Amino acid sequence: RPVSRVAVLGATGSIGVAALDVIENLNRCDPDFAWEVSSMSGHSQIDPLIELAGGCHTPPKCVVVSDAEMEAQAAKALKTASTQTNSRLTERCRLDVGPDALVRAATEKDVDVVVAAIVGRAGLESTLAAVHAGKRVALANKETLVVAGPVVTRAAADNGAELLPVDSEHSAIFQCLAESRARQSQFATAKQPNTAADPSAKTHWPGVRRLILTASGGPFRDWTTAQMREATIEQALAHPTWKMGAKITIDSASMMNKALEVIEAKWLFDVPADKIEVVVHPQSLIHSLVEFEDGSLIAQVSPPDMRMPIQYALTFPRRLPCPAPELDRTQGWDMSLCPADPDRFPALALGFEVARVGGTAGAVVNAANETAVDLFLNGQIRFTDIPEICRRTLLDHDHESSPTLERLLKLDVWARGRARELAQI
Ligand code: NDP
Ligand code: MG
Repeated sequence: RPVSRVAVLGATGSIGVAALDVIENLNRCDPDFAWEVSSMSGHSQIDPLIELAGGCHTPPKCVVVSDAEMEAQAAKALKTASTQTNSRLTERCRLDVGPDALVRAATEKDVDVVVAAIVGRAGLESTLAAVHAGKRVALANKETLVVAGPVVTRAAADNGAELLPVDSEHSAIFQCLAESRARQSQFATAKQPNTAADPSAKTHWPGVRRLILTASGGPFRDWTTAQMREATIEQALAHPTWKMGAKITIDSASMMNKALEVIEAKWLFDVPADKIEVVVHPQSLIHSLVEFEDGSLIAQVSPPDMRMPIQYALTFPRRLPCPAPELDRTQGWDMSLCPADPDRFPALALGFEVARVGGTAGAVVNAANETAVDLFLNGQIRFTDIPEICRRTLLDHDHESSPTLERLLKLDVWARGRARELAQI
């Protein structure tokens, strides 16, 4: 079997660990390809990273530690592991450190797929590098598109890179579009022309009226604003349906995650903000829907387990058995949908506004949000301060509609400082 080689960036995180599980499983069940982890990265969790590397059936050639200050600790842990019998790591596994090492791992010549699973703006350079190198990118790191959507999507088109969504909502939309396009091309005739069967070759979507993103509503779905004002860190971290990293869990509680996803959908599918809608679906079984011009809706349904969308991004257009559990149909199951409440979740309106104006707004709102979430997790601000800090940081910046990447990165630094100042007022 030919080998498909994957760089897993952010391997120590929730998505990273799930991706490693998918790759191990694919290697057992894919009749067409052998799957190998070529490199993997962690930032602060050195021992778990080395353990994950040692657990791969074919250990990675390179382990990346993006925090350069961890070099000595990582070198020691790698050396110890390569002499232990319960680890498959050998001395041939290299250590590479620092943020540039992520770029090297993402652009390595023999890497076929890059799983971009670093959290936040920290994932931008490596994701963009993978895109420039024309790789298939399994994109979990939505912040990269929020900060620099036009830059990233243009680079993907110019370099023949495939940006395949891992975010479950975007994977759902991608799947709905992919399935409908596959049928269209199967039945395409001279009278009913069809352009392409591959939705990653996006541009515009004939016949599509709207993309409908579902939101679980998070732990505060039914809370009043007054209750949310008093929310503790533990309450905000207690997500009802998904087990995820801390940052995205807080984003889900404030619905800033959905706001970021509206912006992500705009860039990924090249649709204007007014063609995107959000509905609340507490069970997290319907991962999103596409509404067509004739009023028909196509939804993608699966249990809330990220291994399904991760695997689809790796194997698209092929479908193979996945380690995620099946939906239990021996019991009745509920799938309810209701409108989102922008009054209690002001982050949502911000997301639509940012998606509408584009330009520098995404970089600013993302940086303000990352800063505010850190401040909340450190007990320095209230939960309800998060969207307010984002709103005011956005208001304080001079909007530009076609910024360069350099300008966006400068604004990212500025917005972090401004958000910190606003938090102290
Ligand atoms: P986690 O917090 O679980 O993991 C984050 C990963 O990024 C870890 O490997 C961490 O390393 C690494 N990391 C943290 N800071 C840096 C940095 N400054 N430089 C380089 N690497 C860094 O997050 P998740 O896995 O939950 O989320 C990852 C991305 O996927 C996010 O963008 C999120 O929005 C998106 N996503 C996640 C979903 C989920 O179900 N978890 C669902 C949909 C999207 P270490 O731990 O070693 O410090
Ligand atoms: Mg999501």
